[in-house]
Amino acid sequence: MAGIYVHIPFCLRKCAYCDFVSFACGSVPEAYVDALLTEIKLVSRGGDYPAAFDTVFFGGGTPSLLSGEQMQRIMKSLETQFDIRADAERSMECNPGTTTPEKLAAYRAAGIDRLSIGLQSTHDGLLNSIGRIHTFDQFLDTLQSARNAGFTNINVDLMHGLPTQTLKQYQDSLKTVCDLGVQHVSAYSLILEEETPLYERVHGGEAALLEEELVADMQDAGIELLEARGYHRYEISNFAQKGFACRHNLNYWHNGEYLGFGIAAHAAVRQGRWTRFANVATLEEYERLLHRGKRPLAETLRLTPRDEMFECVMLGLRLTQGVDRAAFLARFGLDVVEAYPDAMDRLRARGWALESDVYFALTRKGLDLQNEALGFFMR
Ligand code: SF4
Repeated sequence: MAGIYVHIPFCLRKCAYCDFVSFACGSVPEAYVDALLTEIKLVSRGGDYPAAFDTVFFGGGTPSLLSGEQMQRIMKSLETQFDIRADAERSMECNPGTTTPEKLAAYRAAGIDRLSIGLQSTHDGLLNSIGRIHTFDQFLDTLQSARNAGFTNINVDLMHGLPTQTLKQYQDSLKTVCDLGVQHVSAYSLILEEETPLYERVHGGEAALLEEELVADMQDAGIELLEARGYHRYEISNFAQKGFACRHNLNYWHNGEYLGFGIAAHAAVRQGRWTRFANVATLEEYERLLHRGKRPLAETLRLTPRDEMFECVMLGLRLTQGVDRAAFLARFGLDVVEAYPDAMDRLRARGWALESDVYFALTRKGLDLQNEALGFFMR
Protein backbone atom coordinates (compact mmCIF):
# COMPACT_ATOMS: atom_id res chain seq x y z
CA MET A 1 0.00 0.00 0.00
CA ALA A 2 1.11 3.57 -0.65
CA GLY A 3 -0.67 6.89 -0.26
CA ILE A 4 -0.50 10.55 -1.21
CA TYR A 5 -1.33 13.35 1.25
CA VAL A 6 -2.08 16.94 0.18
CA HIS A 7 -2.19 19.66 2.84
CA ILE A 8 -4.54 22.62 2.40
CA PRO A 9 -3.55 24.98 5.22
CA PHE A 10 -6.43 27.46 5.18
CA CYS A 11 -9.55 27.77 7.34
CA LEU A 12 -12.25 30.40 7.41
CA ARG A 13 -11.34 31.02 11.04
CA LYS A 14 -9.14 29.24 13.58
CA CYS A 15 -10.99 27.04 16.07
CA ALA A 16 -10.19 27.77 19.72
CA TYR A 17 -8.47 24.43 20.33
CA CYS A 18 -6.53 24.05 17.08
CA ASP A 19 -2.77 23.91 16.71
CA PHE A 20 -2.70 22.41 13.21
CA VAL A 21 -0.77 24.26 10.54
CA SER A 22 -3.56 26.39 9.09
CA PHE A 23 -4.18 30.06 8.52
CA ALA A 24 -7.40 32.09 8.56
CA CYS A 25 -8.33 32.83 4.95
CA GLY A 26 -11.64 32.92 3.06
CA SER A 27 -10.41 30.88 0.10
CA VAL A 28 -7.37 29.00 -1.15
CA PRO A 29 -4.99 31.43 -2.91
CA GLU A 30 -4.22 30.49 -6.54
CA ALA A 31 -0.52 30.95 -5.70
CA TYR A 32 -0.76 28.04 -3.24
CA VAL A 33 -2.39 25.77 -5.81
CA ASP A 34 0.29 26.75 -8.34
CA ALA A 35 2.99 25.95 -5.79
CA LEU A 36 1.39 22.57 -5.07
CA LEU A 37 1.41 21.73 -8.78
CA THR A 38 5.07 22.71 -8.98
CA GLU A 39 5.92 20.50 -6.01
CA ILE A 40 3.99 17.55 -7.47
CA LYS A 41 5.93 17.86 -10.74
CA LEU A 42 9.26 18.25 -8.96
CA VAL A 43 8.78 15.18 -6.77
CA SER A 44 7.50 13.07 -9.69
CA ARG A 45 10.69 13.86 -11.64
CA GLY A 46 12.83 12.57 -8.75
CA GLY A 47 11.40 9.11 -9.37
CA ASP A 48 12.30 7.80 -5.91
CA TYR A 49 8.81 6.85 -4.77
CA PRO A 50 6.38 3.89 -4.88
CA ALA A 51 5.38 2.61 -8.31
CA ALA A 52 1.63 3.01 -7.68
CA PHE A 53 -0.65 4.62 -5.11
CA ASP A 54 -3.73 3.25 -3.40
CA THR A 55 -5.00 6.37 -1.66
CA VAL A 56 -5.10 10.16 -1.99
CA PHE A 57 -6.07 12.27 1.02
CA PHE A 58 -6.66 16.04 1.18
CA GLY A 59 -6.30 17.22 4.77
CA GLY A 60 -6.02 20.55 6.46
CA GLY A 61 -6.87 23.07 7.31
CA THR A 62 -10.11 23.03 5.39
CA PRO A 63 -9.72 21.41 1.96
CA SER A 64 -13.35 22.29 1.20
CA LEU A 65 -12.18 25.90 0.80
CA LEU A 66 -10.80 24.71 -2.55
CA SER A 67 -12.99 25.68 -5.48
CA GLY A 68 -14.17 22.81 -7.66
CA GLU A 69 -11.81 24.01 -10.38
CA GLN A 70 -8.81 24.09 -8.00
CA MET A 71 -9.56 20.54 -6.85
CA GLN A 72 -9.80 19.40 -10.45
CA ARG A 73 -6.42 20.96 -11.28
CA ILE A 74 -4.69 19.28 -8.33
CA MET A 75 -6.27 15.88 -8.95
CA LYS A 76 -5.45 16.06 -12.64
CA SER A 77 -1.84 16.87 -11.85
CA LEU A 78 -1.57 13.95 -9.38
CA GLU A 79 -3.18 11.53 -11.84
CA THR A 80 -0.87 12.74 -14.63
CA GLN A 81 2.37 12.58 -12.63
CA PHE A 82 1.75 9.40 -10.61
CA ASP A 83 0.21 6.01 -11.14
CA ILE A 84 -2.88 6.21 -8.96
CA ARG A 85 -4.78 2.94 -9.09
CA ALA A 86 -8.26 3.06 -10.59
CA ASP A 87 -9.76 1.69 -7.36
CA ALA A 88 -7.77 4.05 -5.11
CA GLU A 89 -9.58 5.69 -2.19
CA ARG A 90 -9.68 9.48 -2.78
CA SER A 91 -10.65 11.32 0.42
CA MET A 92 -10.97 14.90 1.52
CA GLU A 93 -11.75 16.63 4.78
CA CYS A 94 -14.49 19.22 4.69
CA ASN A 95 -16.14 21.60 7.10
CA PRO A 96 -19.81 22.59 7.13
CA GLY A 97 -20.16 26.25 6.22
CA THR A 98 -17.59 26.00 3.44
CA THR A 99 -19.36 23.70 0.98
CA THR A 100 -21.98 24.25 -1.69
CA PRO A 101 -23.86 21.62 -3.73
CA GLU A 102 -21.91 22.79 -6.80
CA LYS A 103 -18.52 22.41 -5.13
CA LEU A 104 -19.36 18.96 -3.78
CA ALA A 105 -20.48 17.86 -7.24
CA ALA A 106 -17.21 19.22 -8.68
CA TYR A 107 -15.13 17.33 -6.06
CA ARG A 108 -17.01 14.16 -6.96
CA ALA A 109 -16.38 14.81 -10.65
CA ALA A 110 -12.66 15.24 -9.84
CA GLY A 111 -12.65 11.70 -8.45
CA ILE A 112 -13.06 12.33 -4.70
CA ASP A 113 -15.09 9.41 -3.32
CA ARG A 114 -14.78 9.77 0.45
CA LEU A 115 -15.65 12.77 2.62
CA SER A 116 -14.58 13.37 6.20
CA ILE A 117 -16.84 16.02 7.70
CA GLY A 118 -15.75 17.92 10.82
CA LEU A 119 -18.86 18.17 12.99
CA GLN A 120 -17.43 17.75 16.55
CA SER A 121 -20.82 18.09 18.31
CA THR A 122 -24.51 18.29 17.44
CA HIS A 123 -24.97 21.01 20.11
CA ASP A 124 -24.70 24.54 18.74
CA GLY A 125 -23.73 26.00 22.13
CA LEU A 126 -20.69 23.71 22.30
CA LEU A 127 -19.78 24.37 18.67
CA ASN A 128 -19.86 28.09 19.37
CA SER A 129 -17.80 27.75 22.55
CA ILE A 130 -14.93 26.03 20.72
CA GLY A 131 -15.00 28.50 17.84
CA ARG A 132 -16.40 26.25 15.13
CA ILE A 133 -17.71 28.24 12.17
CA HIS A 134 -20.91 26.22 11.67
CA THR A 135 -24.12 25.05 13.29
CA PHE A 136 -25.55 21.54 13.39
CA ASP A 137 -28.12 22.51 10.72
CA GLN A 138 -25.30 23.54 8.40
CA PHE A 139 -23.75 20.11 8.93
CA LEU A 140 -27.08 18.51 7.96
CA ASP A 141 -27.15 20.60 4.76
CA THR A 142 -23.58 19.55 3.93
CA LEU A 143 -24.39 15.88 4.54
CA GLN A 144 -27.48 16.03 2.34
CA SER A 145 -25.63 17.87 -0.44
CA ALA A 146 -22.80 15.31 -0.24
CA ARG A 147 -25.25 12.46 -0.63
CA ASN A 148 -26.99 14.25 -3.49
CA ALA A 149 -23.59 14.61 -5.16
CA GLY A 150 -23.12 10.83 -4.94
CA PHE A 151 -20.89 10.41 -1.87
CA THR A 152 -21.56 7.03 -0.23
CA ASN A 153 -18.48 6.84 2.00
CA ILE A 154 -18.69 9.52 4.67
CA ASN A 155 -16.87 10.01 7.97
CA VAL A 156 -17.98 12.35 10.72
CA ASP A 157 -15.55 13.70 13.35
CA LEU A 158 -16.86 14.10 16.90
CA MET A 159 -15.11 15.34 20.03
CA HIS A 160 -15.52 14.64 23.71
CA GLY A 161 -13.99 16.23 26.77
CA LEU A 162 -15.05 19.74 25.69
CA PRO A 163 -15.43 22.30 28.50
CA THR A 164 -19.00 22.15 29.94
CA GLN A 165 -19.88 19.11 27.76
CA THR A 166 -22.02 16.53 29.54
CA LEU A 167 -21.97 12.79 29.05
CA LYS A 168 -25.53 13.00 27.76
CA GLN A 169 -24.63 15.67 25.20
CA TYR A 170 -21.85 13.45 23.88
CA GLN A 171 -24.11 10.42 23.74
CA ASP A 172 -26.77 12.52 21.94
CA SER A 173 -24.21 13.51 19.31
CA LEU A 174 -23.12 9.92 18.78
CA LYS A 175 -26.69 8.64 18.53
CA THR A 176 -27.69 11.37 16.09
CA VAL A 177 -24.70 10.67 13.86
CA CYS A 178 -25.39 6.92 13.93
CA ASP A 179 -29.05 7.55 13.08
CA LEU A 180 -27.89 9.53 10.05
CA GLY A 181 -26.26 6.32 8.79
CA VAL A 182 -22.75 7.60 8.07
CA GLN A 183 -20.22 4.89 7.31
CA HIS A 184 -17.42 5.99 9.65
CA VAL A 185 -17.04 7.93 12.89
CA SER A 186 -13.83 9.42 14.29
CA ALA A 187 -14.32 10.09 18.00
CA TYR A 188 -11.51 12.18 19.44
CA SER A 189 -10.84 13.42 22.92
CA LEU A 190 -9.99 17.12 23.25
CA ILE A 191 -6.27 17.73 23.70
CA LEU A 192 -5.48 21.09 25.22
CA GLU A 193 -2.64 22.44 23.07
CA GLU A 194 -0.41 25.27 24.21
CA GLU A 195 -0.66 28.62 22.43
CA THR A 196 -4.30 28.14 21.49
CA PRO A 197 -7.12 30.48 22.60
CA LEU A 198 -8.69 27.61 24.56
CA TYR A 199 -5.42 27.01 26.43
CA GLU A 200 -5.34 30.70 27.38
CA ARG A 201 -8.98 30.56 28.52
CA VAL A 202 -8.37 27.49 30.65
CA HIS A 203 -5.23 28.95 32.20
CA GLY A 204 -6.93 32.32 32.68
CA GLY A 205 -9.76 30.64 34.58
CA GLU A 206 -12.45 31.45 31.98
CA ALA A 207 -12.96 27.80 31.00
CA ALA A 208 -12.41 24.53 32.82
CA LEU A 209 -11.41 21.14 31.50
CA LEU A 210 -13.63 18.23 32.48
CA GLU A 211 -12.55 15.83 35.22
CA GLU A 212 -10.43 12.99 33.81
CA GLU A 213 -12.92 10.45 35.13
CA LEU A 214 -15.77 12.03 33.18
CA VAL A 215 -13.67 12.10 30.00
CA ALA A 216 -12.87 8.40 30.49
CA ASP A 217 -16.59 7.69 30.99
CA MET A 218 -17.32 9.52 27.73
CA GLN A 219 -14.72 7.48 25.93
CA ASP A 220 -16.12 4.20 27.30
CA ALA A 221 -19.71 5.20 26.56
CA GLY A 222 -18.71 6.19 23.02
CA ILE A 223 -17.01 2.86 22.33
CA GLU A 224 -19.99 0.91 23.67
CA LEU A 225 -22.55 2.96 21.79
CA LEU A 226 -20.72 2.86 18.47
CA GLU A 227 -20.02 -0.86 18.70
CA ALA A 228 -23.65 -1.55 19.62
CA ARG A 229 -24.65 0.37 16.47
CA GLY A 230 -22.44 -1.76 14.22
CA TYR A 231 -19.30 0.40 14.02
CA HIS A 232 -16.15 -1.63 14.52
CA ARG A 233 -13.42 0.07 16.53
CA TYR A 234 -10.34 -0.51 14.39
CA GLU A 235 -8.10 2.21 15.84
CA ILE A 236 -8.07 4.03 19.18
CA SER A 237 -10.41 6.78 17.92
CA ASN A 238 -11.80 5.35 14.66
CA PHE A 239 -14.92 3.28 14.06
CA ALA A 240 -16.26 1.97 10.77
CA GLN A 241 -19.06 -0.03 9.30
CA LYS A 242 -17.82 -3.19 7.58
CA GLY A 243 -15.64 -2.36 4.60
CA PHE A 244 -15.39 1.38 5.38
CA ALA A 245 -12.18 1.68 7.43
CA CYS A 246 -10.12 4.58 6.06
CA ARG A 247 -7.52 2.96 3.81
CA HIS A 248 -5.32 6.05 3.78
CA ASN A 249 -4.99 6.14 7.57
CA LEU A 250 -4.60 2.36 7.75
CA ASN A 251 -1.56 2.75 5.53
CA TYR A 252 -0.03 5.19 8.08
CA TRP A 253 -0.71 2.84 10.96
CA HIS A 254 0.82 -0.05 9.03
CA ASN A 255 3.82 2.24 8.53
CA GLY A 256 3.42 2.11 4.76
CA GLU A 257 4.95 4.48 2.22
CA TYR A 258 3.36 7.84 1.41
CA LEU A 259 4.20 11.12 -0.26
CA GLY A 260 3.12 14.47 1.16
CA PHE A 261 2.53 17.76 -0.65
CA GLY A 262 1.95 21.23 0.75
CA ILE A 263 3.35 23.14 3.68
CA ALA A 264 4.21 21.06 6.76
CA ALA A 265 3.35 17.85 4.87
CA HIS A 266 5.28 14.72 5.76
CA ALA A 267 6.35 11.76 3.64
CA ALA A 268 7.86 8.34 4.32
CA VAL A 269 9.41 6.17 1.63
CA ARG A 270 12.06 3.51 1.39
CA GLN A 271 15.17 4.92 -0.27
CA GLY A 272 17.59 2.21 0.75
CA ARG A 273 16.80 3.03 4.38
CA TRP A 274 13.35 4.00 5.62
CA THR A 275 13.34 7.77 5.08
CA ARG A 276 11.05 10.46 6.46
CA PHE A 277 10.65 13.92 4.95
CA ALA A 278 9.02 17.02 6.42
CA ASN A 279 8.18 20.12 4.39
CA VAL A 280 8.74 23.66 5.62
CA ALA A 281 5.90 25.06 7.70
CA THR A 282 5.57 28.61 6.38
CA LEU A 283 3.87 29.72 3.19
CA GLU A 284 6.65 32.17 2.33
CA GLU A 285 9.40 29.56 2.57
CA TYR A 286 7.34 26.94 0.76
CA GLU A 287 6.62 29.20 -2.20
CA ARG A 288 10.13 30.69 -2.22
CA LEU A 289 11.87 27.30 -2.44
CA LEU A 290 9.53 26.03 -5.14
CA HIS A 291 9.99 29.22 -7.10
CA ARG A 292 13.70 28.43 -7.18
CA GLY A 293 13.01 24.88 -8.37
CA LYS A 294 13.85 23.28 -5.01
CA ARG A 295 11.87 20.80 -2.99
CA PRO A 296 10.48 22.65 0.06
CA LEU A 297 12.05 20.29 2.60
CA ALA A 298 12.72 21.27 6.19
CA GLU A 299 14.01 17.87 7.28
CA THR A 300 15.10 14.51 5.88
CA LEU A 301 15.58 11.70 8.33
CA ARG A 302 17.07 8.31 7.45
CA LEU A 303 16.02 5.87 10.14
CA THR A 304 18.13 3.06 11.51
CA PRO A 305 16.49 -0.38 11.21
CA ARG A 306 15.95 -0.28 15.01
CA ASP A 307 14.10 3.07 14.78
CA GLU A 308 12.06 1.85 11.82
CA MET A 309 11.07 -1.21 13.86
CA PHE A 310 10.04 0.96 16.81
CA GLU A 311 7.91 3.13 14.50
CA CYS A 312 6.14 0.03 13.21
CA VAL A 313 5.30 -1.03 16.74
CA MET A 314 4.29 2.47 17.84
CA LEU A 315 1.94 2.96 14.90
CA GLY A 316 0.67 -0.62 14.73
CA LEU A 317 -0.31 -0.69 18.39
CA ARG A 318 -2.83 2.09 17.72
CA LEU A 319 -4.85 -0.51 15.81
CA THR A 320 -7.16 -2.91 17.63
CA GLN A 321 -5.71 -5.62 15.35
CA GLY A 322 -2.24 -4.52 16.38
CA VAL A 323 0.92 -5.48 14.56
CA ASP A 324 0.69 -8.18 11.88
CA ARG A 325 3.32 -10.71 12.95
CA ALA A 326 3.96 -12.15 9.47
CA ALA A 327 4.35 -8.68 7.91
CA PHE A 328 6.70 -7.62 10.71
CA LEU A 329 8.76 -10.80 10.30
CA ALA A 330 8.98 -10.26 6.53
CA ARG A 331 10.10 -6.64 7.03
CA PHE A 332 12.62 -7.09 9.84
CA GLY A 333 13.47 -10.80 9.93
CA LEU A 334 12.28 -10.89 13.55
CA ASP A 335 9.03 -11.82 15.26
CA VAL A 336 7.62 -8.72 16.98
CA VAL A 337 7.13 -10.56 20.28
CA GLU A 338 10.78 -11.67 20.24
CA ALA A 339 12.12 -8.27 19.20
CA TYR A 340 11.06 -6.63 22.48
CA PRO A 341 11.20 -9.33 25.20
CA ASP A 342 11.27 -6.88 28.15
CA ALA A 343 8.35 -4.85 26.85
CA MET A 344 6.38 -8.02 26.24
CA ASP A 345 7.00 -9.20 29.79
CA ARG A 346 5.75 -5.93 31.20
CA LEU A 347 2.66 -5.88 28.99
CA ARG A 348 1.83 -9.49 29.87
CA ALA A 349 2.34 -8.79 33.58
CA ARG A 350 -0.24 -5.99 33.37
CA GLY A 351 -2.63 -8.04 31.28
CA TRP A 352 -2.38 -5.54 28.39
CA ALA A 353 -1.05 -7.93 25.71
CA LEU A 354 -3.31 -9.64 23.19
CA GLU A 355 -1.39 -12.29 21.27
CA SER A 356 -2.26 -14.75 18.56
CA ASP A 357 -0.27 -16.46 15.81
CA VAL A 358 -1.42 -13.69 13.46
CA TYR A 359 -1.12 -10.48 15.47
CA PHE A 360 0.16 -8.79 18.58
CA ALA A 361 -2.11 -6.08 19.96
CA LEU A 362 -3.02 -4.17 23.10
CA THR A 363 -6.10 -5.01 25.14
CA ARG A 364 -8.73 -2.30 25.56
CA LYS A 365 -7.10 -1.26 28.83
CA GLY A 366 -3.72 -1.20 27.08
CA LEU A 367 -5.16 1.03 24.35
CA ASP A 368 -6.55 3.39 27.00
CA LEU A 369 -3.05 3.67 28.47
CA GLN A 370 -1.22 3.53 25.18
CA ASN A 371 1.46 6.09 26.04
CA GLU A 372 2.48 4.11 29.09
CA ALA A 373 2.42 0.86 27.09
CA LEU A 374 4.61 2.33 24.36
CA GLY A 375 7.04 3.57 26.97
CA PHE A 376 7.96 -0.06 27.63
CA PHE A 377 9.33 -0.30 24.07
CA MET A 378 11.63 2.70 24.56
CA ARG A 379 13.74 1.22 27.35
S1 SF4 B 1 -11.29 23.60 10.94
FE1 SF4 B 1 -9.79 22.06 11.66
S2 SF4 B 1 -7.79 22.79 10.91
FE2 SF4 B 1 -9.25 24.51 10.73
S3 SF4 B 1 -8.97 25.68 12.59
FE3 SF4 B 1 -10.66 24.24 12.98
S4 SF4 B 1 -9.70 22.42 13.86
FE4 SF4 B 1 -8.07 23.66 12.94
